[in-house]
Amino acid sequence: MTRGRVAFVVLGCAKNQVEAETLTTRLARDGWTLTADIAGADGVVVHSCGFLEAARSEARETLDQVRRAAPRAFLVLTGCFAQFLNNKKIPGVDAILGTGQLDRLSDVLGSKAGPGRVSSPAGLHDVDQARPLRPGQLSAYLRVSEGCNHRCTFCIIPQLRGSLKSRPAEDILKEANDLTARGVRELVVISQDTTDYGSDQGRAGLVPLVKKLVKTPAQWVRLLYAYPSEVGAGLMDLLADEPKLAGYLDMPLQHVSDRILSAMGRDWGEKKTRGLLDKLGRRVPGLALRTTFIVGFPGETDDDFERLVRTVREGHFEHVGVFPYSFESRSPSARLPGLVPPEVVSQRWQRVLDEHRRIKEKKDRARKGTRVDVLAERGPDGRWAARAAHQAPEVDGGVRFKKDPPAPGFYSCRVTGVDGIHLTGEWIH
Ligand code: SF4
Repeated sequence: MTRGRVAFVVLGCAKNQVEAETLTTRLARDGWTLTADIAGADGVVVHSCGFLEAARSEARETLDQVRRAAPRAFLVLTGCFAQFLNNKKIPGVDAILGTGQLDRLSDVLGSKAGPGRVSSPAGLHDVDQARPLRPGQLSAYLRVSEGCNHRCTFCIIPQLRGSLKSRPAEDILKEANDLTARGVRELVVISQDTTDYGSDQGRAGLVPLVKKLVKTPAQWVRLLYAYPSEVGAGLMDLLADEPKLAGYLDMPLQHVSDRILSAMGRDWGEKKTRGLLDKLGRRVPGLALRTTFIVGFPGETDDDFERLVRTVREGHFEHVGVFPYSFESRSPSARLPGLVPPEVVSQRWQRVLDEHRRIKEKKDRARKGTRVDVLAERGPDGRWAARAAHQAPEVDGGVRFKKDPPAPGFYSCRVTGVDGIHLTGEWIH
């Protein structure tokens, strides 16, 4: 006997995606029927993102669309935007659950009454509920902690998710073993600050944790969201010596200029940042390094920007994400002088993209004719997708083939060319 049909809309990052999987699994356990049919649902949950104005607008638009599609459904807003609202109500939304109240979702749907006020920020993990997997799914995200202890001046995530709370290593391993027992062969390790894992438990946790994760049947363990000053010799050695780490690291730098990094409240300045890039280059030759930069931060001068461009031009990075500075009234940087004119911000954004594209094209052309291993699986849209070790899911492009593989799995292929951010390949049998 079902308690009712619930539709779920998930916005935001991979961490939100994993959290939503935990929420839907719990609702099913509690007797709710999950449905994709919003118009026919008794309850609709919008699991939101809220760290940038753009994300909050998307959440508002989604709530409007859902309310129009399901005028009588009990509409619940959950996640980061709910936390951001800080007890402000939204017309048409029946209940609001902040990031620290997600475990109450089933009761709220049942009682058709929300808590009325958000609590302190947190996140939801549930090691007892097996996460749903698609048939033939080989890659899965693995969240190792919630929140962050840094206070970058442009970022409000700690306000939405709180300070760092690392998951117990045994819980993470239990989840990793469960996922790999059900066929997952790539574990993509995520959090707000992966390299700070365990520091809230009074021990350096990431390296020992990763040493256990590579003992699972996973063939790739991919590390995302490393914080530069926390990338030490232990992690570098692991990246260099452990093939299961796929020779890949995502490490957002945000900028390189001393003045801007200090205004951003980041630990390190240019000298140490460059020192780390050189050390990584020497200790882990061929490392596929992904990073992200913010351009147009308040006070950014031409000289600051040219320092960033020079660093990109040096070719340290396999992948570069660039974001125009987003004015967030609740972030400390909102009070900084020297707002950069929008047209200058977009010129700088385009310039960094163009600089890195030249580097990337050269790297990809050099791969032509080489043999690479790829992970091939059907994506959430049912279409085949293949990636090489230097390509993380959803952000780094993939390898395109004329013929689909016979089944999900790891295959060897020969790179035949470049197609934008993607490579083209042919299977080697
Ligand atoms: S490390 Fe990342 S999540 Fe933490 S405050 Fe800085 S930008 Fe935000």
